[in-house]
Amino acid sequence: MDNLTRLQYLEAMGIDVWVAKHQLQGADLSVVSDEDATTSTVIDVEFIDQVNLKKDEWNLLQNEVSECEKCALCEGRTQTVFGVGNKNSDWMLIGEAPGYNEDLQGEPFVGQAGLLLTEMIRAMGLERGSVYIANILKCKLPDERNPKVEEIKACGNYLQRQIQLVQPKIILAIGRVAAQTLLETKKPLAKLRGIPHQIAGIPLIVVYHPAYLLRSLLEKRNAWEDIQLAIETYKQ
Ligand code: SF4
Repeated sequence: MDNLTRLQYLEAMGIDVWVAKHQLQGADLSVVSDEDATTSTVIDVEFIDQVNLKKDEWNLLQNEVSECEKCALCEGRTQTVFGVGNKNSDWMLIGEAPGYNEDLQGEPFVGQAGLLLTEMIRAMGLERGSVYIANILKCKLPDERNPKVEEIKACGNYLQRQIQLVQPKIILAIGRVAAQTLLETKKPLAKLRGIPHQIAGIPLIVVYHPAYLLRSLLEKRNAWEDIQLAIETYKQ
């Protein structure tokens, strides 16, 4: 079986195949005839190998996280919360750590805060499923306390590998803790919002945590400014 046919089978089975958007331009995987499948060079072998390699890396990483006991947070979790969304997205949203609901459901940003985040994503002209969402820590924090330095150190490599795999064009740091951790600063949120930052050459915009916005409705106008800044920065 050639690689293009294999790719089509995977798609037909509903198995995600992560393909860089620019590499798919002009390629229609849904309507390639048998004849085309044996003769076409729409996608070359090297590219298919890269796709499969990337998929292997995601699986490896997710398995590693699901079994991780590198810090004490493993003791209090129901399950690890790896990340969700489009692994090939230009947009990556990064929060702090799973909360109670996320721990139960195994997905970041669910519940009321998750719904508001979904609305924020829609305000950017995107759908929740079109961005990739992850947290710095993959296990729930007890009593909603802030993460400890040793926990961030233990878990940080997983997020770093997720960023390397997604290769986003822009990152949104959601909330103070995520922003301070990603930017390695102790500056307050007010000083981090409103200006574009960079990590590893990727533009980063700091936005309010939706849980905070639920408690501080007056800040919603500022949240809209964050979103506009993110859109402008992405377009540059
Ligand atoms: S928080 Fe991260 S490092 Fe700690 S146990 Fe969970 S996955 Fe491992």
